[in-house]
Amino acid sequence: MLEVLRRIIQEVNGARSLEAALSTMVRRIRKAMQTDVCSFYLFDEELDRLVLMETIGLRAQAVGQVALPIGEGLVGLVARREEPLNLEDAQAHPHFRYFESTGEERYSSFLGVPIIHQRRMLGVLVVQQAEKRRYGEEDEAFLVTMAAQLAGVLAHALATGNLTRPSLEGQVRFKGVAASPGMAIGEAVVIAPPADLDSVPDLIPTDVDYEIARLKEAIGRVREEIRAAGERLANRISAQELALFEVYQQMLSEAALSQEVEKRIREGQWAPGALADVVKRHVQYLERVDDDYLRERSADVRDLGRRVLAHLQEETPQTPDVYPERTILVGDELSVALLGEVPRDRLVGLVSVRGSSTSHVAILARAMGIPTVLGMVDLPLPRLSGARVILDGHRGRLFVRPGPELLTHYEGLIAEEQALAEVLEHEQHLPSRTPDGHDMPLMVNTGLAVDAVAQLKPRISGVGLYRTEVPFMVTERFPGEQEQTRLYRDQLESFSPLPVVMRTLDIGGDKDLPYFPIEEANPFLGWRGIRVTLDHPEVLMVQLRAMLRASQGLDNLQVLLPMVTNVDEVDAAQRLLERAIVELGEEGVTVPRPRVGVMIEVPATLYQLDALAARADFFSVGSNDLTQYLLAVDRNNPRVADLYDACHPAVLSAMATLARESKRLDMPISVCGELAGDPAGALLLMGMGFDALSMNAPSLPRVRAAIRRVTRESAEALVAQTLRLDSPGEVRRHLEARMAEWELAHLLPPRD
Ligand code: PEP
Ligand code: MG
Repeated sequence: MLEVLRRIIQEVNGARSLEAALSTMVRRIRKAMQTDVCSFYLFDEELDRLVLMETIGLRAQAVGQVALPIGEGLVGLVARREEPLNLEDAQAHPHFRYFESTGEERYSSFLGVPIIHQRRMLGVLVVQQAEKRRYGEEDEAFLVTMAAQLAGVLAHALATGNLTRPSLEGQVRFKGVAASPGMAIGEAVVIAPPADLDSVPDLIPTDVDYEIARLKEAIGRVREEIRAAGERLANRISAQELALFEVYQQMLSEAALSQEVEKRIREGQWAPGALADVVKRHVQYLERVDDDYLRERSADVRDLGRRVLAHLQEETPQTPDVYPERTILVGDELSVALLGEVPRDRLVGLVSVRGSSTSHVAILARAMGIPTVLGMVDLPLPRLSGARVILDGHRGRLFVRPGPELLTHYEGLIAEEQALAEVLEHEQHLPSRTPDGHDMPLMVNTGLAVDAVAQLKPRISGVGLYRTEVPFMVTERFPGEQEQTRLYRDQLESFSPLPVVMRTLDIGGDKDLPYFPIEEANPFLGWRGIRVTLDHPEVLMVQLRAMLRASQGLDNLQVLLPMVTNVDEVDAAQRLLERAIVELGEEGVTVPRPRVGVMIEVPATLYQLDALAARADFFSVGSNDLTQYLLAVDRNNPRVADLYDACHPAVLSAMATLARESKRLDMPISVCGELAGDPAGALLLMGMGFDALSMNAPSLPRVRAAIRRVTRESAEALVAQTLRLDSPGEVRRHLEARMAEWELAHLLPPRD
């Protein structure tokens, strides 16, 4: 059964259209389960009905005609209960409803399972049989598995407006991880990674003959390459292996491939799209056949396809010459280099299938104030090219081909946001002080060269977190001591005399360096942050020396240690720092010992504050990681994104404890995670007694506005009320209600 299942899944995932996928699926299921009928009902949100979309066994005319409300009939019951229903005698069930158009009266047995994607009921999959049959446990498990697969396919189709039912076109939302706030309406520019058959966009050719000519040219070049490679290897490989080159040559010269691709071009696909279509179809076919030799050939076909595609793409640039005025870059994985290619005034948003809120692109996007959603795992890239989209970086949503109502709605929201930014700008030079005279120092998180330093500097109390791994990510090797010294000097000098908290390299987790890959099963629980740098003292020493050297004469450097779990780690890092100071002294560079801070982001540290305080000068709470580790929720996994919430009562309670305990220990404590940049979160942290808040520069205006309007006393009361609540939802609602009472609701990022 497993093999059958695997094949069906392959076929369905590889189908070119949703119709083809559905048709294949019902046919294959019917055959595999040896049953009479297999049907698929789609839940049409607009009609609020389950519509029969595909069937094998019931009358074809019923397709699109039979439509049931949720809860009605057996299919409606499956949808309402959201669980399988297995009946030997369906007609005896009180919910049975007869539809004449289907010819259903002939079928006694019924097994239906719901299709659910990310908690959303999308439809129902049903099998039926004429004679009485009790579908077994294995049948049920099989159908449930198929439904889970179909859920992903349907989610894709819904997102691209690919379903033929008019009511389901457009206005479909995609969910990902909100990585940089803000909203934008624009045109999707899909960036295909080179030679990736799965992400070639569909484009209509403007000149069919030209497309055919360049296809032939590309095939010719690959043939030549393979011939040359064969010749080069002729003496070194066996005759059998050499024969493979022959096979490659045949595949390419065979009229079959190029003729098929040509046909596809004439049908209305540009050369890369046509090639991808044909190659993928062949690969799928070969993967299915019951012949090991042929199955292995599928990899060869794919490889050849990629080679031809690479040549085709050489002449069609991966990035357009002229970007649309409101470009929303969409890609499998966006690189920082790519960002640099789009003129800043045309780039209004970023969307990526991969990546996470801590990825380099996300950090850069936040610093630049570009709305961004990452981790859009269901995004079918090829079909988005040129589509109008709405990007909502607050909620982590993308709407493809939105309807007029949604557009108007978002135009309104964007205008409001713009107006608010202008209003807030007027008070940005004013101190971050509450109406009852309490100063709440605001700092910024940086990573790359900050271009607006001159404007920023008078508005902040310093840099609360300089993520040194960011510059490391753009180089091709570990930057040397001199190079690092220049980088750090630039930061320290730009913000001098304000303090700059430089964090030692925090790689691992999801932050890999291209030249230092770390592959682990559980990277967030693995070799990360200080664990890596203490294992590589040569790397840490260079970094510490560069920081110290850069601070010479400025004396505004503070060093922060990430991902600390044990006091030994702090001791070891302190020893290395000491050594670096001594070494530099011997080289004639005298620098004072900088203050050293410990990041509080691993729950274990909460229970060792006394011991840590004895070894460090300040604490800085990484609420992003502290939330992830306290809640056991991967901060970058879109599937559990709804569970990731820094306003979880457990996290807030930990934060309150941290503030209180640090006071007792007389240790300065600040917060540099995202919670500090959320206006309501910032008020809570102020009420708890944190000494400083560090955030991305674009968050400053809203946070300052909130602080300037709420007394410290009210913030303390807010903390007391909030800490009594039981769930993240209650906390969020309470915060929203209080913010509304204070007439500050407009400062909160929009939520659903
Ligand atoms: C944090 O974990 O809250 C933090 C500030 O560090 P990073 O997001 O870089 O892990
Ligand atoms: Mg962290």
